Amino acid sequence: MIFRILTLFPEMFDGFISSSIIGKAIDQNKIVVSTENIRSFSSDKHSKVDDAPFGGGAGMVMRVQPLKDALLSKPLSSSGKVIYLSPRGQTLTHEKVVELSGLSELVLVCGHYEGVDQRFIDRYVDEEISIGDYVLTGGEVAAMVVVDSVSRMVSDVLKNDASAEDESFANGLLEYPHYTRPAIYEGDSVPDVLLSGNHAEIEKWRNSQSLEITKSRRPDLYEKHLKEKHLK
Ligand code: SAM
Repeated sequence: MIFRILTLFPEMFDGFISSSIIGKAIDQNKIVVSTENIRSFSSDKHSKVDDAPFGGGAGMVMRVQPLKDALLSKPLSSSGKVIYLSPRGQTLTHEKVVELSGLSELVLVCGHYEGVDQRFIDRYVDEEISIGDYVLTGGEVAAMVVVDSVSRMVSDVLKNDASAEDESFANGLLEYPHYTRPAIYEGDSVPDVLLSGNHAEIEKWRNSQSLEITKSRRPDLYEKHLKEKHLK
């Protein structure tokens, strides 16, 4: 899967693309992540990428020309999509992440300042995605969230594919608690069942914990789960 990131701050991605699971997935050619500096496509003699908003108001707006030229500097693959990270977009969910992981390419456009000229969105953007109901200073962190979450769903990126299936949201519930050595730490012990070696009992305990945690922290997910399982 290919991720192309159009940004004014490519250096923000340096640590992200060279570390941990994402860094390894890139090294092993399981995903390709490239960053392109929108500013280098500006035809303005001072490489200007923004201008004041028509109609007045605070802040600056990113101009169409550098965005368009950056985007069209490479062809989009057949099952690719252009996504603008935006607080006005559809909120990213597990379902959306799974859907996006089935595509061959995502071009992620990172806005800054007040955002981008609407004509760029109308003409070139397939979808707007938000990572939550709050406002970031720019789309870069949101683009990292998309690359990270979608990459986890790309086959072979995680060492053990089962770990993606087992995680919070994958089955509509939040995950059960985890423990590791030592079995007793400063008097706090691990639940006995986890030391029992009885896999059926461990599975039962984990399911019940998952249900309890979801019920208390995310009643909306819990209700949905009950409906889907026809328990309500
Ligand atoms: N004026 C915009 C508004 O009120 O909707 C906010 C612009 S924000 C300061 C600058 C850029 O950060 C946006 O163009 C977008 O790319 C990104 N951004 C901010 N919040 C975001 C969010 N919740 N999800 C995704 N991207 C976001």
